[in-house]
Amino acid sequence: MTDTVSADLGGTWLRIRVGSAIERFPAPSVLQQPGLSVDRLLQQLVDTLDVHVPHGARVNMSCGAALDEQKGVALGSGPLWGDAPSGEIPLLHMLSSRRPDVRWTLVNDVTAGLASYARGFARPTDRHLAYITISSGIAVRTAYLAEKVVPVDHRGLQGEVGHVRAVSSAPPAVLRLPCACGGVGHISSMSSGPGVAAVAQVLGIDYEERIFASSLAEGTDDLARLLTVVVEPIAELIRTMITLDPRLDRIGIGGGVAEGLVEFYERELIAQLAGSRSYADSLTSDRVREIIHVCAPGDIDTLSGADAIADGYLRVTKI
Ligand SMILES: [Zn+2]
Repeated sequence: MTDTVSADLGGTWLRIRVGSAIERFPAPSVLQQPGLSVDRLLQQLVDTLDVHVPHGARVNMSCGAALDEQKGVALGSGPLWGDAPSGEIPLLHMLSSRRPDVRWTLVNDVTAGLASYARGFARPTDRHLAYITISSGIAVRTAYLAEKVVPVDHRGLQGEVGHVRAVSSAPPAVLRLPCACGGVGHISSMSSGPGVAAVAQVLGIDYEERIFASSLAEGTDDLARLLTVVVEPIAELIRTMITLDPRLDRIGIGGGVAEGLVEFYERELIAQLAGSRSYADSLTSDRVREIIHVCAPGDIDTLSGADAIADGYLRVTKI
């Protein structure tokens, strides 16, 4: 029987699961090893996988990079490899050249998160289901469950919303915050992990990620205000998503920022979404609660999500 190896390549860790054992290595990324060139980092990735993958195995790898999954080409990722000179990294070709005996499947980590979320939480009546990750970066993927499809554009992309302008009523200093992509005032600038810290700094709020949830539990006003500001661009994004797609029945929200605050994040999001502004809003509190689900740590497993995509649970399809 063919061995199946699952891997998850993030900016911080490379995790490899063989059988039931998971090994973790510092990621071959500019974030973890800023002194090394992109070529050297990619070499290290190929070397590490080469050592750990048995002969003739199939490997399903979730990658924290914008990815054309059909071609196996990475289209850029700041935390992993910075801005590659060509803008494209032929990841599948590099892995297949070293290990032609292996069947490689590369999956974007948000797509893997979506598959994991759908497997764990989709209800039989759900038609379109979205997963938003809010961590060092922000992105969303939507699956059409009846067709078992994740539609993508001609480059293999869908839902790279972290780098669109945030809708926010925050003070001008917050709206001018820079983004890692070089832009200004993007959703990632204020709602990602680094974004939350940056917003706290410009608002003069004493903030420490480690104790954010416990401080909110104690009812610290400044931190409640911080949460309101950083959730607003996400609430506005979700309001737009629901307005555009009447079949969107469920939205899972995961990633370190949301999962670290679970019930606080969900309460704030639901409070902001339930406010009706015009006839266009059909969002009652009950309807919002049916749609929105903030994930707890452990709800999303990108290793299993990559396996699910490789098994055809959802097909990533250019349409
Ligand atoms: Zn950006």
